[in-house]
Amino acid sequence: MSDLYQVTDPAARLFLGHEVPETIYSGAKWNEGPAYFPASRSLVWSDIPNDRLMRYDELTGAVGILRQPSHHANGNTPDRSGRLITCEHGARRVTRTEFDGSVTVVAHSHNGLKLNSPNDVVVKSDGTIWFSDPTYGIDGDYFGNRAKREQEGSHVYRFDPSSETLAAVITSMNQPNGLAFSPDERRLYVVDSARTHGPDLPAHIRCFDVCENGAVEDRGVVVEASVGLFDGFRIDEEERIWAGTGEGVHVYSRGGDLLGKILTGGIVINLCFGGLKRNILYMCGATEVLRVPVRANGVNLHKGVETPA
Ligand code: MG
Repeated sequence: MSDLYQVTDPAARLFLGHEVPETIYSGAKWNEGPAYFPASRSLVWSDIPNDRLMRYDELTGAVGILRQPSHHANGNTPDRSGRLITCEHGARRVTRTEFDGSVTVVAHSHNGLKLNSPNDVVVKSDGTIWFSDPTYGIDGDYFGNRAKREQEGSHVYRFDPSSETLAAVITSMNQPNGLAFSPDERRLYVVDSARTHGPDLPAHIRCFDVCENGAVEDRGVVVEASVGLFDGFRIDEEERIWAGTGEGVHVYSRGGDLLGKILTGGIVINLCFGGLKRNILYMCGATEVLRVPVRANGVNLHKGVETPA
């Protein structure tokens, strides 16, 4: 193992020691929202200040612009049909890009008031769309458009496409950010990155139990950020948490034990698993996007969850 990898728990077998992250793109201002689309072998992500969505072709290595302006898009994810779901800071909404390329608004307001600035998003196997709504996109003009908040707080919302209803499912967090389900979807993990707004505010990952009716129950803090803040993260098939930090990637057990680190030499803001085996880790640094094969496999976001017999 090189200085690149720090292994705290060798039994976890997270990394391939000889593999060095490859830079697939540089020249962005702030990369976030990576989402992998296996059918087109491509990665989509956001360069928020440059107001564009980017796309990487895994077979040719080519990178180009997918959409500009992107309304200062941030989080992206595939829905269960493979359509692109996008959080837009600038337009303060969540959208879906349809098969014909048109863009449909999924959510833009709650209780008649504008959302703050949707940040990150995940789609459950039942098709419901869960997203966080902190204020980063309205706090200033760099990551979006400076504006007054209309919502009382920064919540996590659940949109049900079958009833077209939007419910605030987590109202107890300060600045909810990255979010991901456990492989069986019985738990939802959510970052609170509020320390950006004050030294005594949260910088941690919380866990919530997910109930049948879509409500959640707070199970408390899983892990506090030790280097910088948490922003985006993903979960692998063994329910380990792969989180971006101020020094690269930290990997934790579901109980919050540190298992290992990838010290990329810079901040990792958000990440996702890609490749047809979901064993390529795509990492968004501030200006660069990196990829490296790992031993773990990410949760399959394109498959329904099988109910045990
Ligand atoms: Mg984020």
